[in-house]
Amino acid sequence: MTNIFGYDIEKLNDVFKEFNIPTYRSKQIADWIYNKGKTSFSEMTNLSKDLRENLAKSFEIKPPVLIKRLNSNDKETSKFLLEFEDKISVETVLMRKNYGNSVCVSTEAGCNMGCAFCASTLLGKSRSLKAEEMLGEVYYVNSELKKENKNVTHLVLMGSGEPLMNYDEVIKFLHLSHDENIMGISYRNITLSTSGVVPNIYRLMEENLPITLSISLHAPNDKIRNALMPINKKYPIKDLITAGKFYGDKTKRRVTYEYILIDNINDGKTEAKELAVLLKNQLAHVNIIPINPVKERKFFRPSEEKINAFLYCLERENISATVRKEMGTDVNAACGQLRNRYVKNTKKGE
Ligand code: SF4
Repeated sequence: MTNIFGYDIEKLNDVFKEFNIPTYRSKQIADWIYNKGKTSFSEMTNLSKDLRENLAKSFEIKPPVLIKRLNSNDKETSKFLLEFEDKISVETVLMRKNYGNSVCVSTEAGCNMGCAFCASTLLGKSRSLKAEEMLGEVYYVNSELKKENKNVTHLVLMGSGEPLMNYDEVIKFLHLSHDENIMGISYRNITLSTSGVVPNIYRLMEENLPITLSISLHAPNDKIRNALMPINKKYPIKDLITAGKFYGDKTKRRVTYEYILIDNINDGKTEAKELAVLLKNQLAHVNIIPINPVKERKFFRPSEEKINAFLYCLERENISATVRKEMGTDVNAACGQLRNRYVKNTKKGE
């Protein structure tokens, strides 16, 4: 049985060829799956009964299934734990914003990048996700939103995993998400976040996709960044900032630098000034994220006073910056926390 979930029109044409199914049928079937949210051929009523029965003998349509859903008290954030056929699970987050509905997509199950502040890396990486599995995350959330006559409008590749370490599948996923027969999401509404896989930032630049690049910087110098993000030892800050500058210059799209603010680690005025020097004259924006504490790590959120002082310092140096609005702390929205609990409990047989 072939699972055709995530197939685009071309791939559907290919698999249907040997069954003598005319190509216009592929478009109808794609419409049933991705637009009308049907995963059973029996519901595809504009296909003949014979065809529906024949298709069901050879093909199945299996997006991931829900294990658990948590909704924040303010109803703005929902977190979904989704599971694929091989029982590997990932977290996907829906954030209801004033400009649309944004989905935070995981690109790997777990992560082995080892960032010190991140829950996703605590259990390592189980495996990378295929393009159609990432699409499955978006599809699931979209089918939930459809119940409210809404749909997914924005994507951020900021869930578990390093997207640029799963490069080919991530690029395929971006194409599937954009494809008007599938999700039809504008590239301009997609943000890809990287911890700093420098060579693949240059590769991404050559794809000519008008997506936003977001660089998880989190430190203004190698000393602090080496301690927080092991990838910095391979691709130091100077090379990363140069890649970000090239990306901005070539694509004419503003690069976002994510900066998790951690009490007494990277939140001083000295660090703010260093950061301003790094980004001077760049088409850049700094997104300051006061840390969502991770129990397993001893990192704390700075006081409001320190957060504002950091922001003020950047603004005084003419660096565009904002403090990210806090969403979903009551559903453990820091990536990886829900999955970690589930994986640990499953291993214990609970
Ligand atoms: S922050 Fe991103 S790259 Fe770093 S460990 Fe977490 S998921 Fe991986």
